Amino acid sequence: MTPHIAVIGAGVIGVTSAYELAAAGHAVTVFDQGGTIAGEASFAPAGMDGPGWALGWSALAAGGGRRSGVGLGANPQHWIWAAKSRHAHRRSALPLLQQRVQRLAAYSLERKQELTRSLSLEFESSLGVLVLSRSAADTQRLDDALAVLARLGVAHRRLTPDECLGVEPGLTPQSLPDAAAHLPQEGTANCREFTQLMRQHAERLGVRFVFHTQVTAITPGARAVLTLRSTAPVASRSGSVHEPAADERPAFDAVAVCGALGSLPLLAAGGLRLPMVGVQGHSVTLPLRLDDITAQAIGPSSALIDAGERISITRSGSRVRVATVSRLGRQPSTDNRASVQPLYRALDHWFPGCARASQSKHWSGRFPALPDGLPLIGASGIPGVWLNLGHGDTGWAMACGSARVLADAITGRTPGIDVEGLGVERLRG
Ligand SMILES: Cc1cc2nc3c(=O)[nH]c(=O)nc-3n(C[C@H](O)[C@H](O)[C@H](O)COP(=O)(O)OP(=O)(O)OC[C@H]3O[C@@H](n4cnc5c(N)ncnc54)[C@H](O)[C@@H]3O)c2cc1C
Repeated sequence: MTPHIAVIGAGVIGVTSAYELAAAGHAVTVFDQGGTIAGEASFAPAGMDGPGWALGWSALAAGGGRRSGVGLGANPQHWIWAAKSRHAHRRSALPLLQQRVQRLAAYSLERKQELTRSLSLEFESSLGVLVLSRSAADTQRLDDALAVLARLGVAHRRLTPDECLGVEPGLTPQSLPDAAAHLPQEGTANCREFTQLMRQHAERLGVRFVFHTQVTAITPGARAVLTLRSTAPVASRSGSVHEPAADERPAFDAVAVCGALGSLPLLAAGGLRLPMVGVQGHSVTLPLRLDDITAQAIGPSSALIDAGERISITRSGSRVRVATVSRLGRQPSTDNRASVQPLYRALDHWFPGCARASQSKHWSGRFPALPDGLPLIGASGIPGVWLNLGHGDTGWAMACGSARVLADAITGRTPGIDVEGLGVERLRG
C-alpha cells in the first residue's frame, strides 16, 4: 500500500515538502491551522535567494564579530538563545557552519531552478544582488563577508561606487555607497506566489490540503496518530462565532513537522525541546512610480542589501519591497510604525521618490530560528515523526533543497548532498 504521510504546516517549507513527498510516490495530506497557504512567515518576506544571501547575514555579523543586528527583549530564554548563537558562530566553528549553509542553499537554488523549468513555473523574480555599505566600518564587514564568499566559491565582484549605477541605474548619484559588491547569481523572488504554484502542482500529484485544522498532539509510533482541532470560526444561528469541538484522530505512516514555531509544543510533548525562538521582521511593499520615468524615480531593477542597516530592497513586479529583521520574540504587529521607519528611510536614501508611500502595505512576520542558523531536517528521534523547520531568515532560500532532503530521508533514498549537521544530533553536541 502507498505510505500515507501527514505534513503539518502549509508555509513554503510544508508545501515544498508535500510536493517532494508526493513526487516520491507517497500519499500526502497537509494540515494547516490557518485558512490559506503561506499565511504566516512565508507571506511577504524579502524573497532573497541563493547561497550569498544565506551566508550573507551570518558572514556579515560574524566576520565583523560585533553585532547580530537582532534586538533582544526581556525574556531570559532569548538571552540564552543569543549566547548559544554566539557560541555556534565562534571563529573556530564558522568555516564548517558556513560550508553547510552554502551547501544547502546552493542545492536549494539548483532544485528551485529545476522545478521552475520542469513545471514551467512563472513567478515574479529577478537576478543579481547589489550589497552596499555606507561607511568605512561597514565596508570592513563587507570585505570580511566577501572573503567568506570567495572561500566558498560564491560568485561576486567588488564594484566602485560609480559602477553601481551601471547595475542599478535608479540609484541616486547623491548617495552613492562607500563600497559595493555585486552577486550576479543571487536573486529575489515572490515566495508566496511560488508557494501557491507549488500547491497547485502538489494537488495535481494528489496532495490533499486541509485548512482551519490545528494539530494539537502527535501520538508517535509506526502508525502515528494526529489529534486535530478545527479552527474554523462557525457562525451560530444567533450570529455569534464559536469553534467546533475536536473529533478526528487520523493515523499516518509518518508525520513531517513543518509548522515553524507552532511545532514547538507538539515536539516538546514527545520529549524533544528545541532551542528555537521566533524572530520578528517587517516588510513594507509599495507601488513604484512607473508612470513617472525619471532617472531617480525608477527604483531598483533587482535587489539590494544595505549592509550596515541590514535592510533589503527588492523589486517585485511593479512594486518595491523593503524588509528587515528586528527582534527576537515579540509578537508581530502590523501597525508598528517605529519598526518600519528605518525601511522608509533606507528606501529614501538609495532611491528617493521612487515609490508611493501613501499606498504602502506593512507586514510583520515571525520566523523560527535555531542558534546556529541552520534548519533541522530529518528524523526527530520520536518514532514516526520527521522534521523540516527552523530556517531562520533563509527559509525561502533553503526551501526546495530542504524539502528534497526530507523526502529522500523519509523515502530511504540517498540524499543529493551531504546532510551532516542538518539533523537533531547536532543539538546534543
Ligand atoms: C521580514 C522577513 C523577511 C524575510 N526575508 C527572507 C528572505 O529574503 N529570504 C529568505 O530566504 N527568507 C526570508 N525570511 C524568512 C522566511 O520567510 C521564513 O524562513 C519562511 O517563510 C519559513 O517558512 P515555514 O514554512 O517554515 O513557516 P511558515 O510560513 O510560518 O509556515 C508554518 C505554517 O505552519 C502552520 N502551523 C503551525 N503550527 C501548526 C499546527 N499545530 N497545526 C497546523 N498548522 C500549524 C502555520 O499556520 C503556518 O502556516 C524572511 C522573514 C521575514 C519575517
